[in-house]
Amino acid sequence: MVDLVAKYARARVPRYTSYPTAPHFHAGVNAETYRHWLAEIPRSSRLSLYLHVPYCQRLCWYCGCNALVANRPERIHAYADVLRKEIALVADAIGPQGEVSHIHWGGGTPTTLGADDFLMLSRALSDRFTLLPGAEVAVEIDPRSLDATKAKALGDAGVTRASLGVQELAPKVQAAINRVQPLEQISDTVGLLRASGIHAINFDLMYGLPHQTVADLLRTIDTVVALKPDRVTVFGYAHVPWMKSHQKMIEEAALPGASARMAQATAAADRLVQHGYRRIGMDHFAAPSDPMVRAFDSGTLHRNFQGYTTDDADRLIGLGVSSISALPEGYAQNTDDLRVYRDAVEAGQLPITRGVAISAEDRLRRAIIERLMCDYAVDTEAVRTQFGQPFEALADAYDALCELAKDGLVEVEAETVRVTRAGQPYIRSVAACFDAYLDHGSGRHARAV
Ligand code: SF4
Repeated sequence: MVDLVAKYARARVPRYTSYPTAPHFHAGVNAETYRHWLAEIPRSSRLSLYLHVPYCQRLCWYCGCNALVANRPERIHAYADVLRKEIALVADAIGPQGEVSHIHWGGGTPTTLGADDFLMLSRALSDRFTLLPGAEVAVEIDPRSLDATKAKALGDAGVTRASLGVQELAPKVQAAINRVQPLEQISDTVGLLRASGIHAINFDLMYGLPHQTVADLLRTIDTVVALKPDRVTVFGYAHVPWMKSHQKMIEEAALPGASARMAQATAAADRLVQHGYRRIGMDHFAAPSDPMVRAFDSGTLHRNFQGYTTDDADRLIGLGVSSISALPEGYAQNTDDLRVYRDAVEAGQLPITRGVAISAEDRLRRAIIERLMCDYAVDTEAVRTQFGQPFEALADAYDALCELAKDGLVEVEAETVRVTRAGQPYIRSVAACFDAYLDHGSGRHARAV
């Protein structure tokens, strides 16, 4: 019998929040390319806006984001001012086209912004874009950086959903990841948000952290579900110290191995389901009343840089340093150098430094990978017909799937691919069969589980 953990869990494969994935972006896509794509946006388009705030109060050792420690509030205020100017630049390039159905503030920690700056930027968005009634406005929150004034500002700005970084409550794990936040801080934050009219609450948890055990994770889950979050995500820690040098602060010997990680992921999923949450894709869990469950059941769930989403906008516009825009023509990414970002925006230039234009075949593979990641099944013939592509365009993918079918991870019938229950933990490896760019030898991706 094949040892699936040994064979697949250590493989380094992308999380497929985009296709092609970010390591394949290049400087051939620049500000001029992006300006052209923005000018092509049709009037009927639905837009999603992502705003990146790179600052945090202190660095968590596990962090995989583009984050910086801000030691002076003036730096954050200055950043907010540049972001306001970028909003105007991008809005000018788009013109009156499109309506906004989703806004997502991520980072970093958006709540390192002062209340006045958050309100100023929210006004800049509503002045320059048409926001649809009922648009979702989501913010990522560090419970250590939210006070009553900021919570009220979020409510006043129309925020509808808040995602709190919880990760793990066990003190030994919190110490090992440099993120000490007692339960009271988390429950106080939830109270402040609800008192400000923000009722949709997400918690982000993690497995695979140093010194973490299955018992720790289950205790954390049992404790935090009492606060009644609408969604819980359970992400696996991605240890890539050659890309994120602060992760060298994490003691490698204290990290759980592949089998222990699998046991943690499985136990967490089972416990959340026992608590009444529906499992959505590989790492999201939603209360039955949450819109994500409706999207999952109706096959309209999507995947973007934030993971699984109900966001069905046809164009994602990234704002802020390092943010990525996703348009039908391709991806375009802002520079990740703060000084270059500021100088470009101050000079009236879109701060794009790389990206990738996508081909008809990329579009086909992107759609198939998204359906697999969201639904654990895809009818590739239907997708091929939609994109006018022949079967030969996918012949290599079907060759690669044979090995996974032999190991019982997928069932293939005509052109329908179904991921089996045994294959669900390895969904990224299944999706990788359709990835024409995959570089198995590179260390740029995290382990499959
Ligand atoms: S708060 Fe979030 S973004 Fe900031 S360092 Fe910690 S994990 Fe990274």
